[in-house]
Amino acid sequence: MPTVDVDTLIIGAGLTGLSAALHLGDGYAVVERAGHVGGLAHTHVEQGHHFDITGHWLHLRTAEVRALVDRLLGDEMVARDRRARVYSHGGYTRYPFQANTFGLPPKVAAECVMGFVRARCWDRLSAEPAPPLPPPRTFADFILQRLGDGIARHFMFPYNQKIWTVHPTELDASWCDRFVPVPSLEDVILGALGQAEQRLGYNAQFAYPRRGGIARLPQALRAELRGPVELNRAISGIDLEQRIATTGEGVAYRFRHLVSSAPLNRLLAMLRSLPDLVRDAAPHLRHTAVTYFDVAARGANPDQPHWSYVPEPDKPFYRVGSFTAVEPAMSPPDTRSFYVEISHQGEALPLADAEQRVVEQLCQMGLIGSPSDVLFVRRRTIPVAYVLEGADVAPARRTILEYLRQQRVISTGRYGAWTYAAMEDAIVDGMNAAKQIAQWRAS
Ligand SMILES: Cc1cc2nc3c(=O)[nH]c(=O)nc-3n(C[C@H](O)[C@H](O)[C@H](O)COP(=O)(O)OP(=O)(O)OC[C@H]3O[C@@H](n4cnc5c(N)ncnc54)[C@H](O)[C@@H]3O)c2cc1C
Repeated sequence: MPTVDVDTLIIGAGLTGLSAALHLGDGYAVVERAGHVGGLAHTHVEQGHHFDITGHWLHLRTAEVRALVDRLLGDEMVARDRRARVYSHGGYTRYPFQANTFGLPPKVAAECVMGFVRARCWDRLSAEPAPPLPPPRTFADFILQRLGDGIARHFMFPYNQKIWTVHPTELDASWCDRFVPVPSLEDVILGALGQAEQRLGYNAQFAYPRRGGIARLPQALRAELRGPVELNRAISGIDLEQRIATTGEGVAYRFRHLVSSAPLNRLLAMLRSLPDLVRDAAPHLRHTAVTYFDVAARGANPDQPHWSYVPEPDKPFYRVGSFTAVEPAMSPPDTRSFYVEISHQGEALPLADAEQRVVEQLCQMGLIGSPSDVLFVRRRTIPVAYVLEGADVAPARRTILEYLRQQRVISTGRYGAWTYAAMEDAIVDGMNAAKQIAQWRAS
């Protein structure tokens, strides 16, 4: 078997792996299962339509990543203010739902506002002091404490049940502060009157390449690398004692350090032997799959929502977005494109007539005029899409990642570290992995 000697083997050429390679500078080989770089930050092209793997909008919070993206893509990037909507009760309201109840049936809006007031403004309604509340333990606690039972019932519970495939009572509250916008009383009242400030939440603005889709970002990262990126090579077995990783194609890599951005559950399955503690922790790593539909249709759509959240139980999808509403150059002139996302457990979506339902429901939502406007629909699946943050996950993840670190293996990125994170985090994770390897190399 041909053997390659390398200081650091990097599994995966998604944003995490590419960033690790860029920040290491040398002494690495990147091995990637797919025929392209980017991982989930990839863009399929069909008949001139560019489809990312569902919406991949870049939300930049850290100065370091902002500077890197500026250096790599500079004028190629455009900045956009989010035009996001919620489709519920047969119509559109603005996102986030919790601060934009204007336009809902009045009874629904009143239940949402009053529920919020009861949950958050007890002191102003009652002579009694507010009962002390423990920090929210589950996602459902978080929703009820911070947003109230009306918003829970009319949006947060049904929407989140769809995206996570489990009820919010089954999820931990640890990730919510960053990702779930919590409005003030003023936001909620102004929002009920149609006067809300539209900048609430982590994704109020985003950056996006003017042409070519999100794939431009990993392509630009790859162009800066000095070391090899081997495509169409999947690591299938790892012997940590011998420090050898082998691919299904019959190549062996002898390494000192390993950085893996493959899903953590799959990395564990590649390891030749595991201590009992780690083996026992592995079943706690649960996740959803997402099947998504790329839809191309006639007619431009510059004024439509960039994306819409869909809590309605009669529609199987939780979100619909439009690449052309963000950037018309994503498709040929006078056409539009959409992505439609359905979460599920297990590898295959158990819904045979999904394409037809998706088209009918896009028409019902007013996003497409009629089914005859549709040019094509393509179905694809992300087998590991959202990790499920149950209460048992944090200790299991800690046990596994600590064991790997002791073996000088860094499992990182959204799936490597088994967490809920965005593209910017992947770039930061790659930087941090490179720093750790540099320390190990020096020690
Ligand atoms: C539905 C959805 C929507 C999203 N929307 C956004 C968004 O709008 N904005 C945002 O910032 N983030 C978004 N994200 C998150 C974003 O996609 C990720 O945070 C980021 O792309 C993770 O990068 P990564 O490199 O860690 O992982 P990945 O992109 O998964 O890359 C891992 C790579 O490892 C390779 N690999 C796996 N196993 C092996 C093996 N055995 N051998 C060799 N190679 C292997 C894979 O092929 C892949 O290329 C979204 C995610 C999902 C699922």
